[in-house]
Amino acid sequence: MKGDVTTAGESEQVRTAKDNWELIQDSLQHLNEGISVFNGDLELVLFNRKFVETLNFPPDLVRIGVSIGELFRFNALRGEYGPGDPDEQVRQRLELARRFEAHSFERTRPDGSVIEVRGNPLPGGGFVTIYADITVRKRLENRLHEMASTDELTGVCNRRRFFDLASIEISRSRRYDCPVSFLMMDADRFKSINDNFGHVTGDRVLKALADTARASLRTVDILARYGGEEFAILLPETDEDNAVSVAERLRLAISETEVPTERGPLYFTASLGVAGARGTAVDLGRLIERADQALFAAKHSGRNLVIRAE
Ligand code: GH3
Ligand code: MG
Ligand code: MG
Repeated sequence: MKGDVTTAGESEQVRTAKDNWELIQDSLQHLNEGISVFNGDLELVLFNRKFVETLNFPPDLVRIGVSIGELFRFNALRGEYGPGDPDEQVRQRLELARRFEAHSFERTRPDGSVIEVRGNPLPGGGFVTIYADITVRKRLENRLHEMASTDELTGVCNRRRFFDLASIEISRSRRYDCPVSFLMMDADRFKSINDNFGHVTGDRVLKALADTARASLRTVDILARYGGEEFAILLPETDEDNAVSVAERLRLAISETEVPTERGPLYFTASLGVAGARGTAVDLGRLIERADQALFAAKHSGRNLVIRAE
């Protein structure tokens, strides 16, 4: 009798284990993320549908027992890891996998989608990895970042972004003993443009001014809307003499820029203050202060002018 009880208990346990296993399988199949488990020999021992879908593997490739090397090879050959020697790409990944360390990274796939991969080693060997498609989240993040750093009207950097980028350039100039210059640019008699043509035209003038400035500058130059009708420009690796030439070119290009209105083409001008420094003497606050004073002098000397700081 005792034996029967034991048998019943065992079958109960087997049933429970089977139920649990089905429950685990069901749960895995209903996750929004892909999941894979590789054993200590780097063979696939568990995975769900989403793993196959998220990585766009052909279903017959992904089977219990397939080696991670085979999946790496398939990926390398289809360009999943970007340009490069597929053998080398597989070798590097196998070397990493054999370390059985926690891993977490994002991968931009050839089709532009982004997946997040996070894995942890298992106590008994091998590792478990989760794959999430974060394309939409990434797109939103990028968009938010762009919105937080761009001036909506003109499309150039905003003031905050200017200081972020400028501080990087300033420390570079200090470290490598490079020259750097700063221009403060302000639209002349802008209030009268608004008064005479209306704010909508005023806005279009600001946009045209920013477009002309962007087109006249190098891509490494940092152009930002600093205030209402005021723009800040940082010129990396440019000494004050050259900065004066850049400012003069800018002033001229702006004076030739045309904004169409119902009353015919509208022309406008801007004044610029220029300040430069080099190496350890570079201090952004001081550059801005000096350029501001020079701009003030330009306004007082008649406008549509470039003036170099004292
Ligand atoms: P100055 O030559 O001395 O610089 O004269 P100004 O008229 O340009 O200078 P002021 O500071 O007196 O006026 C600046 C004007 O710029 C006032 C403000 O309403 C206008 N402004 C600031 N931001 C915007 C904007 O985004 N759009 C428009 N349309 N106008 C703006
Ligand atoms: Mg002005
Ligand atoms: Mg102003």
